[in-house]
Amino acid sequence: MFEPVVIVGGGVGGAATALLLARQGIDVLVIEKDKFPRNKVCGEYISGECLPILQQMGVMDALNERPFNWLKHVTFHSPSGGEAKFELPKQSRAFSIRRWDFDEALTGLAIEAGADILFETRVLDHDQTDDGIRLTLSNGKEMTTAFVIAGDGIRSRFLERKSAGKGQRLFGLKAYFESGELGQDQFEMFFNCAGYGGYSHVEEGTVNCAYIVPESLVKELRGDHEQIYQQGLLCHPTAAKKWGGVKRISDWYATGPIQYGLQTDVSDRVIPVGDSLVTTEQFAGEGIGMAIKSAVLLSRSIQSCGLQDWKSARELYLRRHHETFAIKIGLLNLLRTAMSIRMGAEAIIRTLGVMPDLFQLFYDFTRADYRGFEDP
Ligand SMILES: Cc1cc2nc3c(=O)[nH]c(=O)nc-3n(C[C@H](O)[C@H](O)[C@H](O)COP(=O)(O)OP(=O)(O)OC[C@H]3O[C@@H](n4cnc5c(N)ncnc54)[C@H](O)[C@@H]3O)c2cc1C
Repeated sequence: MFEPVVIVGGGVGGAATALLLARQGIDVLVIEKDKFPRNKVCGEYISGECLPILQQMGVMDALNERPFNWLKHVTFHSPSGGEAKFELPKQSRAFSIRRWDFDEALTGLAIEAGADILFETRVLDHDQTDDGIRLTLSNGKEMTTAFVIAGDGIRSRFLERKSAGKGQRLFGLKAYFESGELGQDQFEMFFNCAGYGGYSHVEEGTVNCAYIVPESLVKELRGDHEQIYQQGLLCHPTAAKKWGGVKRISDWYATGPIQYGLQTDVSDRVIPVGDSLVTTEQFAGEGIGMAIKSAVLLSRSIQSCGLQDWKSARELYLRRHHETFAIKIGLLNLLRTAMSIRMGAEAIIRTLGVMPDLFQLFYDFTRADYRGFEDP
């Protein structure tokens, strides 16, 4: 009944949990709806703070044979064209990599460690029985387990988030472009009236562009991705000048609706990791780091309580997660609210532009504390 431990979703949170549990000798089964590798809407920026954890997990070694790009400089563009440029703190060397590569490398490591992954299999339904949770899969099979680890992302089928008002929900889009004028080690973000987003190299000659727009714009433009890009991001004067003529070299990928916040209403037999537990503000570039970190917290909690006592492990994990992230999530929500108002983004970016020393404070404010996490 306790094994295999079933993880729904083989993204960052699910695959990292599978890897860490499999290394403890636990029998793990991941159920993933997509065929890997696959594209995913994401800025593909990995904050430097999780580098020690990724090194410790062996992920950086697995990435060595894949293209990725170190980032050093960040520029924020305010709605009216003001800018603030910074060098990332030395201890936080960020990098960007396609999720195509990152997620495939992570699932590859989980498989090497002994996890089973059922790709192209979707969990269609679930219901609680007296002694477990029954899953109905797209391959026609059913299975019942004591508990499920939900790594199925922002629209987790196991959890409910409070819904935002109609028209206020957000959508994310991503495509790859040629390099334009952007330096290889630079990352730039544009904040404007309709939405916000950024550009960074994921490998030589290829730039990721990912951005967020409100549902109202998606509806007004009837989901026309190119128009949404024009009006959602290129309406920024500097973005139009720098990126208007640069060639797009992939399809558009879209996701949504995105709802931010911490999940509190978690059913007894479900343990959420990654975005299914908490979805954070994208411009902080912390989603991947936090998904990895929640996997570390969960695997440690299972290790200290034992699989037989998974209920105590679940409780311990949720408590530790709350202690680690709750304040940071609250601060990020505040910052998102401020940055989503034109005047707020203008004031914050212009202040950072004239007082660059404040950047370290701003940076720390948007980071989760990763100390003590290097040793999963
Ligand atoms: C526009 C945008 C830009 C972003 N930019 C960044 C960034 O630059 N840096 C950063 O750190 N974070 C960024 N994020 C956030 C980041 O993408 C997420 O935090 C991260 O992907 C969370 O990982 P996860 O494993 O929880 O979920 P996911 O990566 O979403 O993985 C969930 C997995 O579950 C699978 N799944 C879903 N439902 C089912 C089902 N029913 N059955 C089986 N499988 C299922 C999916 O196929 C998927 O593989 C961005 C997000 C958006 C929307």
